[in-house]
Amino acid sequence: MNYDQARFSRDDVYEPLLSEKDGREVDVDSSLPDDLTRDSVSLPSLSEPELARHYTRLSQMNYSVETGPYPLGSCTMKYNPSFIEDVAALPSGAVHPDRSGETVQGTLAVLHGLQEYLADIGGMDAVTLQPPAGAAGEFTGILVAQAYHEANDDDRSEVIIPASAHGTNFASAAMAGYEVVELPSGADGRVDLDALEAAVSEETAALMLTNPNTLGLFEREIRDIAETVHDAGGLLYYDGANLNALLGRARPGDMGFDIMHYNVHKTFATPHGGGGPGAGPVGVASDLAEFLPKPQVRKSDGGYELFDPERSIGKVHGTMGNWLVLVKAYAYISRLGDAGLRDASAKAVLNANYLASQLEYDIPYDPFHHEFAATAGDRDAADVAKRMLDYGVHPPTTKWPELVSEAMLTEPTEVENRSSLDDLAAAFNRALADDDETLANAPSRTTARRIDQVSAARNPRLSWHALEDDGGD
Ligand SMILES: *Cc1c(COP(=O)(O)O)cnc(C)c1O
Repeated sequence: MNYDQARFSRDDVYEPLLSEKDGREVDVDSSLPDDLTRDSVSLPSLSEPELARHYTRLSQMNYSVETGPYPLGSCTMKYNPSFIEDVAALPSGAVHPDRSGETVQGTLAVLHGLQEYLADIGGMDAVTLQPPAGAAGEFTGILVAQAYHEANDDDRSEVIIPASAHGTNFASAAMAGYEVVELPSGADGRVDLDALEAAVSEETAALMLTNPNTLGLFEREIRDIAETVHDAGGLLYYDGANLNALLGRARPGDMGFDIMHYNVHKTFATPHGGGGPGAGPVGVASDLAEFLPKPQVRKSDGGYELFDPERSIGKVHGTMGNWLVLVKAYAYISRLGDAGLRDASAKAVLNANYLASQLEYDIPYDPFHHEFAATAGDRDAADVAKRMLDYGVHPPTTKWPELVSEAMLTEPTEVENRSSLDDLAAAFNRALADDDETLANAPSRTTARRIDQVSAARNPRLSWHALEDDGGD
C-alpha cells in the first residue's frame, strides 16, 4: 500500500445529494384525500447507473472491515462472512412472532441449538437469547442475580466492579439499583486479591469481571477470586462481550462464574448494529435458570416448545430476541465447529502478539492475549488515531482503559493475515513518528476532516433539514 497516496482528497469527492443532482418537480397523482397530499414533490430523475454510482461513491468514502483492518480493542470488529447473510435471508426464517410453537419448529430448533452452543462454549447450564445488546445482557444478568438473592430472602446492596471494566458494567449495576464498589487494579493490571477481600461483605450481590480483562490479561487467580466472592454469598458475573481469547479453550463456567453474557457481534461475527439490532444472550448456572426471561425454548416430545421459567424476571425484549442476528450467530458457530472456534482463538491471540511485536510503542502490561493496550506515550492517543486514518487504516480504541495513559487498545482479530498486520503496524508507527502539528490537524486526507466529537454527541443534527435549519454548516 502506498501511504503517501491519499485515498480520497477532500476537494474531489464532494458528492451532491440526489435532489441536487437532478431534482425535478413531479406532479402528485394520488387517490389519497387532497388535504393530505401536496400538488407536486421534488424528486430526482436519474438513470440507474447514476444512482448506482452515487451510492457506490458514498460507500467509498466510508471505512469498514471490508475495506481494511479495524483493530478496535474490546469492541472487536471482525469480518462477517457473507454466507451468514444468505442464511439470514432464507424466506423460511421470516415467521410472524405470534405464531404458535408447533408451526415454527425449524425456528425453535435454531434458537434451541444456539442456546445449547452458547451454554457449551461458556460452561453454563441455561441461556436466554432475548437481550438485544451486551449492555442489555448485563442488565438482564444482574436482574437475575437480584431475583436469586431476593428468592433467598437475602437483601444485598452492592456490586463490585474492577476499575478496568467496560463502562456498561457500572451502568448496568446502577440501573438495577445497586451501589457500585469500584475495585482498584493491582500493580500487574489484574484484580488485587487483598483489595477484593477488603471489598466483599454480606452486602455483595455480585462481582462483575472480564477475563482476560480489558488489558488482555488473564486473571490467573480466578479460582481464588471466585471462592472469595462465593464465600461471602455473592455471585460471579462474567462479562463475556469478547470471548475471542477463550473460544474452545477455557470456559467461564469452569472458572466459577455463575452468570455471563455473550456479545454475538464481537465474538460470533454478526454485525455491530450502530446501537442495534444486536444480541447479548445471557447464560447462567443451573441454580439461576428458573429466573431467566420468558419464554425459553426446550426440547419436547419429538420437537421443541416454548416455556416460561418458573420464577422468571419477565421479558426483556419482544418475542425471542433479534432473530436475524441470532440465526447468523448460529450459522457462524455451526460452520466453524469446535476446531474452527479453537483455531479462531489461537489466531486472534497470535495476531495480537505478532502485531505488538512490530510496534514502536510501549505496551506496559503483558503477557496479553487477544488484545493489548499500547501507549502513545507523550503523544495524544486521539491525535495519533486520527492520523492513522490518513494512512488508510482504522485506528484502535483510544484513551481506554484508563490504567494505561494515552491508551491505544488494539485487537486485530483472527481475520487479518501477516501482510495486513504489517500494513497496520506501519500505519501505527508512521503516525507516532509524525510531528505535533500534523497530528493536531489530522486527518487531512479523508473525506471528512476532524469532527467536533463533543458537539456531535451533545447536539446531534440527524437530518439534512436540521442541518439546513442551522445554517447548513
Ligand atoms: C462492548 C462491550 C460491552 C457492551 O456491549 P454492547 O453490545 O455494546 O452493549 C460490555 N463489555 C465489554 C467488555 C465490551 O467490550
